Amino acid sequence: MTTQIWHQVIRHGIENVANNPHVLELLQHWQTARMAQRRPSVAMFHAGRWPELYPRLMLLRREGDEFVYGHYGAEIARHSQGDMTGRKVSDFGGRLSAFFLATYQDALAHDQPIYTVHVSDRSLSVFTWERLILPLDSQDGADWLLVYGHPLQMRHQLLESVLDATSDALLALRRVHDAQGVDLGWMVLVINPAFTEMFGLVSRALVGHLVHEALADWAALNVEAECLLTMASATPRAVTRVLLTSQNLLRYLDIQIRPLKDGVVVSLTDATDLHEAQKRLRHLATTDALTGLANRREFDEQLHLEVQRARRSGEPLALVMADIDAFKAYNDHCGHAAGDDCLRQFALAMKSVFARELDVVARYGGEEFAILLPGTGVEGAFNLTERLLQRLQREALPHPASPVAAVVTASFGITAFGARDPDDEIHLLRRADRALYEAKQTGRNRVCLAR
Ligand code: GH3
Ligand code: MG
Ligand code: MG
Repeated sequence: MTTQIWHQVIRHGIENVANNPHVLELLQHWQTARMAQRRPSVAMFHAGRWPELYPRLMLLRREGDEFVYGHYGAEIARHSQGDMTGRKVSDFGGRLSAFFLATYQDALAHDQPIYTVHVSDRSLSVFTWERLILPLDSQDGADWLLVYGHPLQMRHQLLESVLDATSDALLALRRVHDAQGVDLGWMVLVINPAFTEMFGLVSRALVGHLVHEALADWAALNVEAECLLTMASATPRAVTRVLLTSQNLLRYLDIQIRPLKDGVVVSLTDATDLHEAQKRLRHLATTDALTGLANRREFDEQLHLEVQRARRSGEPLALVMADIDAFKAYNDHCGHAAGDDCLRQFALAMKSVFARELDVVARYGGEEFAILLPGTGVEGAFNLTERLLQRLQREALPHPASPVAAVVTASFGITAFGARDPDDEIHLLRRADRALYEAKQTGRNRVCLAR
């Protein structure tokens, strides 16, 4: 596939586009001569006339459909593939010749200056070239062109702009040794502004220094071993790190390490915001908004995990279901807002009794709650629940419409995971629910154990 070289051609208002004073000077010179009603002569552009421009100039003579270089500036030769003096434009071959020939023919056909910018096809150092193409005459009547060619943007400049623009912090390191072959560590080859900003550094002054000496946070980053592995295996790897920077900032970093021949490129993405957002999202997804307890989804997940764990470890696991007594009457009598308050109070009371770190206290729905007590058997769960009943008595939140007591009470059903239970948790829930039903049936404000 022969695609065209990316280029832009400017015919009018070149002086508005080109910033290069040489281009403007040549153009003005050409235009002045042109106003005297003639095409400037090639003789005007001999070597002695423009000594400092000459290395950037090319003179081409038309021969049929071809153009032959009468002069090929040394600076142009330096950036491209050598001196073309005496050779033809089509000697370049491929799409480069096609592009040059088209613009040269264009300039002569319109008898007008043309300014072009094109992406370099061959040069490793140049990214884009600018050219000014001026039609010339000669005494013998042949068509000539004067072409001014100059690198507009160098690749290293472009690379620098890319490094400056990227929001990831980048660090290129080379493993260095002293004359005796003793390993000295990583020398900084490249560092970008995002990196200096992330670590509160003043400038790129790290370049050429050993990273463990120049970068205070290097040890805390803790990627030395990963960098060595990456270089040795020539395969990229990714790690995450939580870093307390020397500026006392906590950062969650996603770190990519990619191999170079004798070093690595380390890129750090600050995932702190993402991490915080994930934490908030997880909290929202697992928490009941009214009481702040775990929600039913979270409870079901924990129940599943704890049942598996209990099966493996043989440790006890108790499940308590709770339901506030006559809560419909409480709402009807005291109002829905008071009902919400009551639910929050009840949640606090539960949290203070089932307070171990592994205990899961969840709002299962409405005024129904479920508590998971890992490492606790039926007896322990019973004692704790009795304590909760007493606490409710002490708190004595008035319930004027309750048939059970003058204060808010609740009923509880308790069961425990047994080694012979089937794997799914439904059985456990059903047993606790039946025990709770029994507590309701036998007068409420009490605890029943599953049979
Ligand atoms: P029992 O002693 O048999 O448990 O009777 P109960 O009235 O507590 O049971 P029922 O299931 O009949 O009523 C539950 C009530 O809980 C009905 C509902 O309006 C109320 N409720 C459920 N969720 C909320 C809530 O988020 N806020 C408030 N204020 N009330 C709620
Ligand atoms: Mg109830
Ligand atoms: Mg209920």
